[in-house]
Amino acid sequence: MGRIRILPDQVANQIAAGEVVDRPASVVKELLENSLDAGANRIRIEVEAGGRKLIRITDDGQGMNRDDALLAFERHATSKLRTVDDLLSIATLGFRGEALPSIASVARVTLETATGDDAAGTRVEIAGGKILHVDDAALPRGTTLAVADLFFNTPARRKFLRAESTELAHVTALVTHYALAHPEKHFELVSATHTILSAPPVARTAERIYQIFGKDTLAQLLPVAAETPLAHGGLPEPPPWKKNPDDPVRDPGVLRLSGFYSKPELQKLNRNSIYIFINKRLIRDRLLMHAITEAYRNVIPPTSFPVVLLFMEMAPEEVDVNVHPAKTEVRFRQQSHVHDFVRDSLRTALIQARPAAGFLAALDSAPGASPSLMPPAASPLPGSPGGARFQPPPDSDPGAFESAAAEAEPFQLTQRLPTPVPGKLPFDAQNVNQRGWEGDRQAWGEAAAALFQPAGLAVTDGCDGGPGAALDFGPGPRAGTATARGTAEVEAEQAAANLNHLGSLRPLAQLRESFILASGEDGLWIIDQHVAHERVLFEKILADRQVERVQRQRLLLPLLVELKPAQMVVFARIAEELERNGFEVEPFGPQTLAVKAAPVGLEGAALERMLGEVIEQSSANSDEHEQNEDITSLRTRIAASIACHSAIKINTALDPARMEWLLLELAKTRHPTSCPHGRPIALLYSWKEIQRAFHRI
Ligand code: ADP
Ligand code: MG
Repeated sequence: MGRIRILPDQVANQIAAGEVVDRPASVVKELLENSLDAGANRIRIEVEAGGRKLIRITDDGQGMNRDDALLAFERHATSKLRTVDDLLSIATLGFRGEALPSIASVARVTLETATGDDAAGTRVEIAGGKILHVDDAALPRGTTLAVADLFFNTPARRKFLRAESTELAHVTALVTHYALAHPEKHFELVSATHTILSAPPVARTAERIYQIFGKDTLAQLLPVAAETPLAHGGLPEPPPWKKNPDDPVRDPGVLRLSGFYSKPELQKLNRNSIYIFINKRLIRDRLLMHAITEAYRNVIPPTSFPVVLLFMEMAPEEVDVNVHPAKTEVRFRQQSHVHDFVRDSLRTALIQARPAAGFLAALDSAPGASPSLMPPAASPLPGSPGGARFQPPPDSDPGAFESAAAEAEPFQLTQRLPTPVPGKLPFDAQNVNQRGWEGDRQAWGEAAAALFQPAGLAVTDGCDGGPGAALDFGPGPRAGTATARGTAEVEAEQAAANLNHLGSLRPLAQLRESFILASGEDGLWIIDQHVAHERVLFEKILADRQVERVQRQRLLLPLLVELKPAQMVVFARIAEELERNGFEVEPFGPQTLAVKAAPVGLEGAALERMLGEVIEQSSANSDEHEQNEDITSLRTRIAASIACHSAIKINTALDPARMEWLLLELAKTRHPTSCPHGRPIALLYSWKEIQRAFHRI
């Protein structure tokens, strides 16, 4: 007898579960996606013990009839896909038909569902993949799925679950993301003791950000919106002899982008605060990450990352979502067109917005890291930092992850702890007082730190009021007039605080011969003279270099520079680009260079330091096998270095005319917000802040 055998369904489902569900948050993700696919407008998620004990999700979607309710738990059973061609144009979040059977194979599941048309609804109970009961039940239209005792029959997986608070943090972050992507829907997340998130429908994403994270967060983000026709994406046309005249000519439609990006003053140490949604699906994509980082190049330091919420819409045919079981990765048909469009849209938005950095905000804005709520590419969402699989089980080092999460810098500048929201406790009443608010607050804090720092809870924002109201699943609440008003206020303030007035500022004085003080309508400005001049020079050098018109000056005496052999090799690689930037350098012996001419404004020790810096940076790059560093990045590096070493230094007296000149020149730059290395240039002590500080308002 042969040794090969077909695995029983239950085993196959458990194997699939390994890819689809690895922690409570990934169960929540699958169930949430199902509810959204079912057209739900209200989704309520209850979790107990971080979802380890219970996850219950209730929606008002289309529901299922008896047959479907049973079929849904079969492997590869889906209502969203029929033929392989459908795979090319998936408009739903789910399509693989794997989630429910996978979840049911590793938990005790109860499904209650009704379509509203049939006489009765259906209640199905399944444990470890076995159907225990199927009954009629009187139910309203919609579906409730309760998943209890996750991994009860797979102890090895259970071991990898983290502390309750950590799991709850992941669930919270996930629900928050989906709530952001669907401002028109009502989301609720409640734990055994409290409402963690309550977001009634609002009109716009900005309002949803305000509703969930509060005023300060919204104030640090800027809106972006753009679109491009995909038709001109440069996809190679098939040659005429391969073209089938009967093929319908498919119009790829437009690529739409909208969302929010952070002002340069807000910086993160990792990419974890960048969220990308394609057709409302939260995904992770290297290509787009790169495009976003590129948009911020020379605006924030290369070691920092922005906060970005990006929503992209495109025809489903233009993006392949069937790349990974957890559906978090995608492939674009027109990769480079999409990449460049995202980069250029963000860059243009930044240039146009010219956001001014607030003086008080800048004080606190050292970049912080956010813990990851997304897995590294090619593993299911959502993983913990490093992925749950690679972490020691909780009992081996209970504190490690918690402290990592606690260290993570929150997004908001001023931390606020949410106010407890008392609510009805519809499940597990005994558990209520055991952990109490403290436990929840810890979980909430972590969840918050993981994404942004949420500002209080939506319920305190005039949407719902009073005890219990947040849990009321009745008719729609007053959908946040206060939210709409608050959002509009932030937007108005934001529109005013930009650097467009730089050119009309009046320089008042110089502080310690290093900072220019200037007054304007909007308040008091403090400008760092060195980085301001650096920005001016940087953009001028790049522009001159573009048209091959860099001004050079001959040195009276050639400057001799000694190099090590390895540095000579690096120099040879960048010599041509240096020459185009105004240098004239000749070999002067095996290890010596003679610099005969240099860009205007760069001389003496500064010139020597600049050359040393560029050579050093270039050799650092060759270590990383970046020999083929693209020419733009070498060019910007050289320009940044020349600018830095020839700019006005601090501790240099400037007369009023020169200060005025500098402000005017700065006003003309594309990015007056920050120097090429990402430091802020001009800070505004706004009129409002001044009045507030003097207790006048
Ligand atoms: P998929 O979402 O990939 O189709 P799932 O295993 O997640 O696979 O779900 C199987 C099927 O069950 C879905 O195709 C859908 O028809 C049905 N279903 C699941 N959840 C819901 C829900 N909340 N409301 C209505 N139908 C649902
Ligand atoms: Mg699904």
